[in-house]
Amino acid sequence: MNCENNKKKLLRLIDAKAKIFTDVSDNIWGYAETRFDLEKSSALLISTLENEGFSIERGTAGMEHAFVATFGTGGPVVGILAEYDALSDLSQICDAAEKHALTPDGNGHGCGHNALGSGALAAAVGLKDLLSSEGQPGTIKLFGCPAEESGSGKAFMARAGVFDGTDVMFTWHPWTETRMWGFSSLANYQVYFHFNGISSHAAASPERGRSALDALELMSVGVNYLREHIAQEARIHYAYTNAGGTSPNVVQSNASALYFVRAPKSSQLRQIMGRVTDIAKGAALMTGTTVDIEWDSACSEYIVNDSLGRVMYENMRSLGGIEYSDEEKEYARAYTATLPETSKQGVADLIKQCFAPIDTQTAETMASEPLQSELFPYMMGNSVMPGSTDVGDASWVVPTAQALVTCYPTGTASHSWQWVAAGKSSVVHKGLIYAGKVIAMTALDVICDPEIAPRAKREHLGRLGGERYTCAIPENVQPR
Ligand SMILES: [Zn+2]
Repeated sequence: MNCENNKKKLLRLIDAKAKIFTDVSDNIWGYAETRFDLEKSSALLISTLENEGFSIERGTAGMEHAFVATFGTGGPVVGILAEYDALSDLSQICDAAEKHALTPDGNGHGCGHNALGSGALAAAVGLKDLLSSEGQPGTIKLFGCPAEESGSGKAFMARAGVFDGTDVMFTWHPWTETRMWGFSSLANYQVYFHFNGISSHAAASPERGRSALDALELMSVGVNYLREHIAQEARIHYAYTNAGGTSPNVVQSNASALYFVRAPKSSQLRQIMGRVTDIAKGAALMTGTTVDIEWDSACSEYIVNDSLGRVMYENMRSLGGIEYSDEEKEYARAYTATLPETSKQGVADLIKQCFAPIDTQTAETMASEPLQSELFPYMMGNSVMPGSTDVGDASWVVPTAQALVTCYPTGTASHSWQWVAAGKSSVVHKGLIYAGKVIAMTALDVICDPEIAPRAKREHLGRLGGERYTCAIPENVQPR
């Protein structure tokens, strides 16, 4: 198969069905479903994939709205990750450049996963069209992954062995620049601590009470002292999900907190979590209460892969950046006008770092553009993004490459009302089609060149240094 000629054909095939993919994205934006409750969003992706000839496995890894769509036969097996979950309390009127909820207390696609899933769909369908027209062997698997924002759907999928047997994995994320995802992320455990005490009249018989709220507060004090003695990049944050009621004159018999504990390496995190658990037990001992520990979910750190990343970036380079019309720039400028001056400085600093050596004035000029149309230079390193993603779990099992593609105005933040508002714009549409093309072209490279997947695998094993993937979520904990 002539790979380069076929890439041109692949791009035409994706363009020919672009409206199908952008309509799916717009519809999923409207559904704005969260966590594991993704009935409409998954049904739309599934029906589109079925129409395109993919066979569907539903209810993957015990999650009703997870699925695997497969096409083709033989190796290599190319995996593509699709997300489609929204965020709670981020409802926002479409195309409105001021914060205004569409539905009070409603959900919104503040992380662009409507586009993420649809870009993955574009890649899978485009590649399928090419392989079937060329009679070329190769297997495409699109993984429909619920609950990226919270719940770690991919960790449950990895635990169930869903990604086993896949040779390479690709995904992307809608962003404010077009560049490679060239950094790791923090492993993250999400765990509830429930303290149980004895209620009593807080004035008349306090000696008979044992306060669960006291235990919770002492746990917080202990954890806040722990911070000094853990890895600099580790993060611990908590929310009191039950402070024991609203009556000061009742000794609180129940109190709970949800803890997020994060660190650059899963191996570090296991140790830190052991110490947080000891502090909870100590707080219970001090207060004469008991503590129950309930796992919610967990995800692993992201393992980068330079071998696959370089192949993906070459395809981004061949496509170049993304061009925008004057109307699109005007549209984006309405959103950048809502940002504080400091956000522009942050963008200029990023540009200076990525394009180094570059003079300050050029960086500031670029940062003042309402949309970043230029492809950023290739970067792949050991730096750690101070957040977490369950793509990490997939990347432990299968060599993974991930692109970031401009979909939103310069300087706007993920999980913001601005991203929700701009979520059905032509800028997002261009971004998801671009992402679909990059993933499909890179997958085609893997199919054409039998050296790529083994090279990526060798690098992957080297980076793991003999460690094997173990899911941090205990076996008895199910997605919910
Ligand atoms: Zn996201």
